[in-house]
Amino acid sequence: MNFSDNLSTKEMKPRLCRHPMNVDGRCMKPFCPLANSKYATLIEKQGKVFLCLKTPERVHTPAKWWEYIPLPANNRTKAFEIITSHLQWWDKRSLYRVKKRYIYIMLMIRRIRKLRTMALFVLLFIFRTTLFIQFL
Ligand SMILES: [Zn+2]
Repeated sequence: MNFSDNLSTKEMKPRLCRHPMNVDGRCMKPFCPLANSKYATLIEKQGKVFLCLKTPERVHTPAKWWEYIPLPANNRTKAFEIITSHLQWWDKRSLYRVKKRYIYIMLMIRRIRKLRTMALFVLLFIFRTTLFIQFL
């Protein structure tokens, strides 16, 4: 029996989660924040990084589910120290996922800054050239 014929392309694709608090992006029982009462993620808001913790003690108040802990956006070792101190007694896999996400978010912030400076330089160049053309 050939198993490769039975698997369609739809089944081969990983199911992705649309929840903004998801760590991995995968929508499965151990990775989805809706399915777990104990969960840890990282989010980025306007260039600042926050470690978000959800514990079963706060499940009855949905407005206070997440505890936000600010992290430095540039210093990886300091951020990892804070993360490990908060997730000391948690599952090692969740700690690994949070660290992985921190690295991705750091790279994203760097890329945003680079693109912003590039756009500024391009605008300055256009401004200068238009001024030059006007005075010709
Ligand atoms: Zn999900």
